[in-house]
Amino acid sequence: MDSTHACRIFTLIAILLVGIGHQTRGQSNVDDQVNDMMETAIAHMNDGEYEEANLTFRKILKLNTVLPDELSYLFAETLYMVNQYHNSKNFLDKYIRLAGSTGRYYSQAIDLKHFLDQEYELILVCKLCDNRGYRLIGCDVCDYKGKLTSQCFYCRGVGINRCEVCKGNGVTTSLNAFGEVLYQTCNDCQGKGQTVCKVCHGAKVIHEECEVCHGTSKKAGNEICDHQPTGNSKVFEPIKNNGHASN
Ligand SMILES: [Zn+2]
Ligand SMILES: [Zn+2]
Ligand SMILES: [Zn+2]
Ligand SMILES: [Zn+2]
Repeated sequence: MDSTHACRIFTLIAILLVGIGHQTRGQSNVDDQVNDMMETAIAHMNDGEYEEANLTFRKILKLNTVLPDELSYLFAETLYMVNQYHNSKNFLDKYIRLAGSTGRYYSQAIDLKHFLDQEYELILVCKLCDNRGYRLIGCDVCDYKGKLTSQCFYCRGVGINRCEVCKGNGVTTSLNAFGEVLYQTCNDCQGKGQTVCKVCHGAKVIHEECEVCHGTSKKAGNEICDHQPTGNSKVFEPIKNNGHASN
């Protein structure tokens, strides 16, 4: 290759690079910002300040830009350390899917997966939390009943409906062979003109399973479950009879 040829190729590449640089300057500013914030988050992680790291990662996600795969792993580890196992698992699965076995944090990711699996085993057997590990509290949506009661839509809370067969007349008509109209007592309502509501069976209200707690009368709160009954929960204490009746 002669020097003129080499020089021409070099110039061409230089022009291309300048062009790319110009087009992606906006993006590279965001990239710089992401890199700076990731450095901050990693520094927090190294100092054991996982709550701070968590906040920083959340700020990075809010930038709404394409993020490096590594961020998924680092965020997953942070979430594990602040006991948000469900979110941690989501980001860890994402990292393994994106980076594969050649990813920078692959071996750490496999270790973390193992620890998360152990947490999930505890969550699955625990009766105090939901399947994401959030402690269950009473469901106030259904007033702790597991079901919602509302006025029957079919009879509008009356409990009875106009008889559909006789249109409320109590009698049905037919024509005989001579074209004469015959009147008969309605079989469906026994002549009353109305029937008991088919939907609520006269109860005027209908009960539906609570959509939030699915009938369990418990829903997930914001607290991560430690799989231990709470120390400050009320325990029934029988009255101590001291023998001095007040009356
Ligand atoms: Zn009828
Ligand atoms: Zn009804
Ligand atoms: Zn409920
Ligand atoms: Zn639990």
